[in-house]
Amino acid sequence: MSDGFASIQVQAGYTPGTPQNAVAPPIYQTTAYEFASLQDAADIFALRKVGNLYSRAGNPTQLVFEERVAALEGGRAAVAVASGQAAVAITLLALAKSGEHIVAARQLYGGTVDLLQDTFADWGIEVDFVDQDDLDAWRAAIRPTTRALFAESVTNPTAQVLDVRAVADIAHAAGVPLVVDNTVATPFLQRPGEHGADLVVHSATKYLGGHGTSMGGVVVDIGSFDFGAEPTRWPQLTQPYARVGDVVLWERFGPSGQAFAALVKTKYVHDLGPSLSPFNSFQLLQGLETLDLRIARHTASALAVAQFLAEHASVSAVHHPGLGSSPWADAAARYLPRGAPAVFAFDLEPSGDTDADRSRVHRFVDGLRLVKLVANIGDARSLVAHPASMTHSHLTDEQFAEVGISKTTIRLSIGLEDPADIIADIAQALAASDPHA
Ligand SMILES: *Cc1c(COP(=O)(O)O)cnc(C)c1O
Repeated sequence: MSDGFASIQVQAGYTPGTPQNAVAPPIYQTTAYEFASLQDAADIFALRKVGNLYSRAGNPTQLVFEERVAALEGGRAAVAVASGQAAVAITLLALAKSGEHIVAARQLYGGTVDLLQDTFADWGIEVDFVDQDDLDAWRAAIRPTTRALFAESVTNPTAQVLDVRAVADIAHAAGVPLVVDNTVATPFLQRPGEHGADLVVHSATKYLGGHGTSMGGVVVDIGSFDFGAEPTRWPQLTQPYARVGDVVLWERFGPSGQAFAALVKTKYVHDLGPSLSPFNSFQLLQGLETLDLRIARHTASALAVAQFLAEHASVSAVHHPGLGSSPWADAAARYLPRGAPAVFAFDLEPSGDTDADRSRVHRFVDGLRLVKLVANIGDARSLVAHPASMTHSHLTDEQFAEVGISKTTIRLSIGLEDPADIIADIAQALAASDPHA
């Protein structure tokens, strides 16, 4: 098969081969699978043979989705799960156990910050947060017990662009993998593995599905990290794995670059159970088939909206790395050659009066008609959110400054409607919210 991006997104992972010969990947709505013989069952249980077993561990519709995402990211294997949150959790749990340590960007998605700061702390996994642009801070935070560095390729809401290569080099110098959450960029705008990331995670709920209908998550094993270089550091991969006939995962799956994915699937998905349903796998596959077309539209429309906002008198800042004025314009030119993602933010001009600013923000958001007020991104519809009232409502003023947002910051996720309609809607809501009008 051809290896162009569009060919992969439409065809990878599936060849009609059942008696029915369905050209589209079927929804295999089944919990379990009949084994050909007892010997066959024993071989599949012991990982001597690949085969379907029980749908908590994997379902044929899900396997097509996994292969397709792995191919789009240029990885060796992928594991799909029920949500992006589950993908992040099991990836980091497979790397760091109690007493070990992770260094993470402080710009991460709020749900991930909660997971790392609160739940991982309960479990004895320590996490330090650093400004993702401060390379010295990444280096200084690393300890002998550090097992991963973690950041997003493009952050939300202010669209900061990670210097993936620089952070990957720091991780590798310390002998640990770099994990990148590529949800906002998608593999169409960036493949973090090409810049040194070893594991790539996604909330497939967002752009991979793209229609705002189905939750899902996926972790891609790029196959680049050498867990065999320091075997004592990674016993989960280099010691016999008692539960499946004393297989050493690194010996069995290391040569094909799939050892980490095998660990995540056979241990963390199996034990914790955040399995992706066959129906959601199918929905996410439908989304993937148009990924490049959708992202190209999202990207172009978002840039047009950002340019409109940058010229508007009511707007004091636009946080979009496709604008030459952005501190991340150079990073965007290097890491996002096809354009910047459609999730970005802007600030309404603050007046100095907190109450007046609050009521202005409310008038603007409530005045939008086409753009929907929704706690989500990456939908086909254009969405708006007010971080200070929603995702970031528990932050202190100091933390606001650190994240680079204010009380008048508005987040947009530009959808697939006509860009002229999106801009007209934002223009009328800005006019309606203007205190001088
Ligand atoms: C939404 C999101 C997640 C969590 O994904 P869910 O599918 O909502 O569980 C993780 N990372 C980023 C960057 C996200 O936007």
